[in-house]
Amino acid sequence: MKAEIIAVGTELLMGQIVNTNAQYIARACADIGVGVYYQTVVGDNPERMMETFRIAMSRADVVICTGGLGPTQDDLTKDVLAELVRQKLVLHRPSMEKIEELFRKRNMPMVESNARQALMPEHSDPLQNDTGLAVGVALTFEGTHFILLPGPPKEMKPMFDRYAAPWIQSRLEGVQPLHSVMLKFAGIGESLLEHELIDLIKEQTDPTIAPYAKEGEVAIRLTTRAATAAEAESRLKPLEEEIRRRLGQHVYASEDITIEQQIVRMLKERGQKLAVAESCSGGLLSDMLTAIPGSSAAFAGGIVCYSNELKHKLLGVPMEQLEGPSALGAISEQTARTLAEQLLVRVTADYGISVTGVAGPDESEGKPVGTVYVGLAVRGGQTTVFPLQLSGNRESIKLRSAKSALYQLWKLLKT
Ligand code: ATP
Ligand code: MG
Repeated sequence: MKAEIIAVGTELLMGQIVNTNAQYIARACADIGVGVYYQTVVGDNPERMMETFRIAMSRADVVICTGGLGPTQDDLTKDVLAELVRQKLVLHRPSMEKIEELFRKRNMPMVESNARQALMPEHSDPLQNDTGLAVGVALTFEGTHFILLPGPPKEMKPMFDRYAAPWIQSRLEGVQPLHSVMLKFAGIGESLLEHELIDLIKEQTDPTIAPYAKEGEVAIRLTTRAATAAEAESRLKPLEEEIRRRLGQHVYASEDITIEQQIVRMLKERGQKLAVAESCSGGLLSDMLTAIPGSSAAFAGGIVCYSNELKHKLLGVPMEQLEGPSALGAISEQTARTLAEQLLVRVTADYGISVTGVAGPDESEGKPVGTVYVGLAVRGGQTTVFPLQLSGNRESIKLRSAKSALYQLWKLLKT
């Protein structure tokens, strides 16, 4: 099944807003096994919208359109589709009642145009809007399925996930459902991962292997079509096992979670806590950990000791170690060690992690951009310092240093 995504809106064409809807829908289509072949953007102009719909119909089985379902004069998507499929627009009663109810509650007069949000082509299926007023539309015309969704992402996403995706899936006639496994990797780059699996990737037919890479994160998704979960597993398991045989030391999860989520989970299971001292990562590690609900059970907290003064005053790094002609410096194995160990002296935690380095763009203490030391102190155990040489701009060095620190802790926890 081939899909085309059409985003309607002059604001998009003019670059005033970013087409995040297309990105969301494209990813969601991949999840249900629908291939997106084209993405189009068209302004709020009925002739050009009609032309766009016709072109899409000629080359796609599913046309998913967002925007222009609102009450105003420039919201024309339904009118154009109704004209294309030669149907009248009729009122969708439940949506109309919802709109009336809202105006009654707010004690505001309802104007004629508000009713436009409850219109739909006569022979179409309504897609319920749980977070807004405009009803969505699904219909099939001359073999092409059309889906109309509202423009605001907070309305579009739930409507797509809850109503449009199942509607599309029910039209995937005779096609067996997709089953997939996501393997998440840490401590390995995208190119090395591909190199290690290149034969599998080249030979792939069923299951398929799709690599995903985001900044500081690599994943692969194994996907197959099967009538039952057991049948899918019989094909996915051997492939997963082969990948784990080659790269198991980097696979931190077989589901779509971040490494910080995995670490919080593992620490909670053990009833242990982590504390961090961050210099070059500037609080990013603490931010990543506190983004996880319930992380207080596993995360004691962090100190952003960016200056030498704070490294000295809050974590007791000797000033002679930090500054002076023969000092090792803030960016050194010794300072990473002291920071990590001092956390455990001062904080009730089982692991102390420190991150100190040069995020750039200029070198520091005569050390090149990307030089990073991650310290890992274990209560009642040994301290290890990992010297890293990271590449990228300031932002990515910060992110990679935080992710690398998490990777080192994960390696320790999994043993
Ligand atoms: P409304 O009832 O708000 O008018 P609508 O369905 O008519 O909704 P539009 O008027 O096209 O949708 O867009 C409304 C708002 O939704 C835009 O101002 C923008 O903030 C957001 N939006 C629209 N299209 C997109 C898109 N493709 N990606 C991200 N955001 C979008
Ligand atoms: Mg609008």
